[in-house]
Amino acid sequence: LLGYVGFANLPNQVHRKSVKKGFEFTAMVVGESGLGKSTLVNTLFNTALYPPKENTEPSNETVQTVEIQSITSDIEENGVKLRLTVVDTPGFGDFVNNEESWKPILDDIESRFDAYLEQENRVNRRKMVDNRIHACIYFIMATGHALKPLDIEFMRRLHTRVNLIPVIAKADTLTEEEVVAFKQRILADIQHHKIQIYQAPTYEYDDEETMAENKEIMSKIPFAVVGSDKEVEINGRRVRGRSYPWGLIEVDNEDHCDFVKLRQMLIRTHMEELKEFTNNILYENYRTEKLQAMGI
Ligand code: GDP
Ligand code: MG
Repeated sequence: LLGYVGFANLPNQVHRKSVKKGFEFTAMVVGESGLGKSTLVNTLFNTALYPPKENTEPSNETVQTVEIQSITSDIEENGVKLRLTVVDTPGFGDFVNNEESWKPILDDIESRFDAYLEQENRVNRRKMVDNRIHACIYFIMATGHALKPLDIEFMRRLHTRVNLIPVIAKADTLTEEEVVAFKQRILADIQHHKIQIYQAPTYEYDDEETMAENKEIMSKIPFAVVGSDKEVEINGRRVRGRSYPWGLIEVDNEDHCDFVKLRQMLIRTHMEELKEFTNNILYENYRTEKLQAMGI
């Protein structure tokens, strides 16, 4: 079942309240051009089944900017609604001088915090619109070597403002062994630079199955992803994948890549956690800093 996402099967009661209201979730994708961001977004939205409606903000015509584009889609599954927005950031890392590539993205994330803060200060707070970014998927080029200075700088600048979820882009261009080694190297670099990537909390009251599932998902970070919006036929089955002379890489096959795990984390197992961490920690810290700076 290609179109099946799984959020209608939410694992526990924490989610009951949201189920009634429907879910809203906003993720952002960042990474150099050509790393497969747009393709992954399409893969995530399952374009064929749920054509997303685009509402691209008017973009600046000058070449040296990072654009902010968002795509929203309402997905419904077994009567449960999800409004999923993905914010794409074409232009990141494409300039001759990329020293400040992170800046327009940080500005965008903070301006969404500002918009939320402004609403909180209104008298009527019944219709709050939450456009805050709940997760930032950061695409790392599958070099097999180490993080680039651009990656380190971006993550260092952003980690206190957004839940960072690093992924290895186009993981089908590396062998299985290379992926394993590259993941270790990336995590070592992240630790060395004291970068805080998203870590799921564990709860004592979680059942064993949930804890095992969480551990399994967390163990895959940085997710080795492969995107494709094309279907390929294999043994009479139609699957999404990328075919090579030596074989086929299936996007939705967990033995081939971590795309399913990433989607599971975002849309099913950790959606509420990512939103709570954004609201309770990241936004709250921003708000405190902002009010202090204003002398309040
Ligand atoms: P963006 O610039 O980051 O949005 O990248 P695109 O999604 O436009 O993809 C750039 C090129 O890479 C296209 O030709 C895609 O077909 C190809 N591509 C996208 N995802 C993958 C992937 O997972 N593996 C491989 N090998 N190629 C990919
Ligand atoms: Mg793109």
